[in-house]
Amino acid sequence: MAKKGRVFSGARPTGRQHLGNYLGAIQNYVALQDDYDCVYCIVDVHALTTVETTQDLKQNTAEMVLDWLAAGIRPAETIVFVQSHVPQVMELHTYLSMVTPLGKLTDLPTFKDKVRQQPENVNYGLLGYPVLMAADIVLYKADVVPVGIDQAPHLEFTRETVRSFNYRYNTKALIEPQAKHTEIKKVLGIDGVEKMSKSLNNHIEIAATPEETTARVREMVTDPARMKRTDPGNPDICNVYTMHKIFSPQSDVEMVNVECRRAGIGCVDCKKLLAKNMNAQLEPLRTKRAEFASRPGYVQDVLDDGARRARVIAEQTMQEVRKAIQLP
Ligand code: SF4
Repeated sequence: MAKKGRVFSGARPTGRQHLGNYLGAIQNYVALQDDYDCVYCIVDVHALTTVETTQDLKQNTAEMVLDWLAAGIRPAETIVFVQSHVPQVMELHTYLSMVTPLGKLTDLPTFKDKVRQQPENVNYGLLGYPVLMAADIVLYKADVVPVGIDQAPHLEFTRETVRSFNYRYNTKALIEPQAKHTEIKKVLGIDGVEKMSKSLNNHIEIAATPEETTARVREMVTDPARMKRTDPGNPDICNVYTMHKIFSPQSDVEMVNVECRRAGIGCVDCKKLLAKNMNAQLEPLRTKRAEFASRPGYVQDVLDDGARRARVIAEQTMQEVRKAIQLP
């Protein structure tokens, strides 16, 4: 079946993925493959703007790719590659920077946030981040970019940059990408308050062992009104129940919904049931991951092949770009 166009998306190499990544982004990546030619990039250069040490970059990339592949990213059709393996992106970043007013970059809320977060390291990379992101997207002639509500300004920036470049050099070399607004599910961590995140250590890794998963679920915060086993609870405000709705069969979800409210089930048993269902749901993914991990050089082969295919598209774009600029 003919695909609807090309999708591009990039993600930082954050290592082993957690349920927040899985439910919020990876499942969406997998589904998009049915309708689009997908280009998924591990943006290691972007990561350099904030990482303190680079010694884990390679390992984090490999772990993340393993999770992606286990979750259903199909490397025979989808291009999976590392940003720095296609140096053309640096060149395009430079050309795009020439049509980017400085004030536009300093005004972006994401830049201001970063300045607040790391005042001791306000590097050019942070300022130029959206330009590099624009280069990533247009280098691969992406028609569509999946964006959550918070990334919408960056995509708009990319579209404006494309218009500026095409106008400045009187060309149609660059394609203005369309936003595909996706509802990025916000998954709360085991604290039941903050978004699931590694840095807050409130996460559950998708490739955790069943025992590790059970231990993490046991730590999940529940409805605080249930001080005693006999206190009725409210599943609507409990993250354990939210997770049941994602991982448990309908019969269990209904049972928890009823029994929690009349103290018919205790939180310990409720969590045991969730851990069992979660482990059962994730078991095929984990088996696949272990199988991929046992193949020597498999991840590297996927990334090398992805970079080769990405470079072909990138070089085509750059030839048009250089011609449009009339570089000697
Ligand atoms: Fe949450 Fe389950 Fe306890 Fe109800 S019984 S408060 S849903 S953990």
